Amino acid sequence: MALRAFRFIRQTLVSLLNIGLFCTLMNFEVSELTTQVGQSAKDFAQQHIKPFVMQWDESQEFPVHIFKEMGKLGFMGVLVPEEYGGSGLSYFEYVTIIQEISRVCGSVGLSLAAHNSLCTGHILAFGNEEQKRKYLPKLATAEWIGAWGLTEPNTGSDAGNMQCVAKKDGDEWVINGTKNWITHGISGDVAVVMTRTGESRSKNNATAFIVERGTPGFRGGKKENKLGMRASETAEMVFDNCRVSEANILGKPGDGFKQAMKILDGGRISIAALSLGIAKGAYDASVQYSKERHQFNHTISSFQGIAFKLADMSTEIMAAELLTLQAADMKNRHVPMTKEAAIAKYYASEVAVKVSNDAVQIFGGYGYTKDFPVEKFYRDSKLCTIGEGTSEIQKLVISREVLK
Ligand SMILES: Cc1cc2nc3c(=O)[nH]c(=O)nc-3n(C[C@H](O)[C@H](O)[C@H](O)COP(=O)(O)OP(=O)(O)OC[C@H]3O[C@@H](n4cnc5c(N)ncnc54)[C@H](O)[C@@H]3O)c2cc1C
Repeated sequence: MALRAFRFIRQTLVSLLNIGLFCTLMNFEVSELTTQVGQSAKDFAQQHIKPFVMQWDESQEFPVHIFKEMGKLGFMGVLVPEEYGGSGLSYFEYVTIIQEISRVCGSVGLSLAAHNSLCTGHILAFGNEEQKRKYLPKLATAEWIGAWGLTEPNTGSDAGNMQCVAKKDGDEWVINGTKNWITHGISGDVAVVMTRTGESRSKNNATAFIVERGTPGFRGGKKENKLGMRASETAEMVFDNCRVSEANILGKPGDGFKQAMKILDGGRISIAALSLGIAKGAYDASVQYSKERHQFNHTISSFQGIAFKLADMSTEIMAAELLTLQAADMKNRHVPMTKEAAIAKYYASEVAVKVSNDAVQIFGGYGYTKDFPVEKFYRDSKLCTIGEGTSEIQKLVISREVLK
């Protein structure tokens, strides 16, 4: 009885807190710092990314030099404390940077997100002092590009069933197996790799290792030829009797899967921000085009069929933004946010697909060509409902939290 009463009081407090938080978000004021950081990301995207977007997309070029430039601006170590060479900023600035870059190019946004919140984020969250001192300054400045490998050819959503194994041999561990769909699988200078170190389907059976490019037995494999996000490199990572030392383990042996799930909570906020950027880019282009394009002696924006599309797009983008900021705020406050991150990612990614689809419709035939930006937003947006857990997996995560 006492336990039930306690649960009721706790739930009421949590609800009140959530209402309080919602009200705070309703009056959400963007700080001067976030505005400045956002402006600098916007300027950078306009000047250094926009002129080359289609060139990189067509040739599937991963523009490493752009990431080195972003390293100089502090965008590659946004969340890394200054003592490790990073910018020491919060999730608010982080989602703003991802959004502004993705508003111009989703591919660069995706790579930026994978580098910051997956590889770098994993070492920041679970690395020991020596590992942090060794890797974070290089990653935060983009001297090194990071990769993060969980997915395998036969285990995507069912990542806990991974087949890439690490076996202890004396003082070393020997890794064998393949990771696929890995962002920077070829170009990454260092990778965080989840491996199975226990029995299949048993508890605590995975371990995360840091593996540097050039380690014998570790190589990049096939590069994927993708529908969208074509300037973000996606490739296999192959481990063939790759020997690493005990010092390369992140945290404790057996904790790898639990660590990965925690990293994905934060990563999903990045994908929500990436989705928002894509949706806003498609929306901005649509508003402008609808005011310029004439049919039946009127601008197409004067037709309710088009104006209402813009109203829906604007509404859905705002809702997605509030969900993303709520999750970012909880992450900043170190409050558990598995459900909120999954909700933000699920909703924002579906909005990105819908908004960019509507954008192509508003552009008509021109939207179907590569002379206008919306076809690329449309292609890029689809990744957002797949990467870091599909929409179906987000619903699984959300419903599990709801039914706890
Ligand atoms: C461009 C790109 C970049 C990526 N970058 C990385 C990276 O850097 N690191 C990394 O580790 N991974 C990365 N991934 C992999 C990505 O996270 C996986 O593709 C994703 O988790 C889905 O796994 P899958 O492709 O194997 O699909 P599957 O798991 O085979 O799913 C196929 C379909 O079945 C559905 N499904 C599966 N299980 C269930 C269920 N229980 N209930 C309902 N439906 C279900 C899925 O929702 C989906 O619709 C990347 C993928 C892409 C496309």
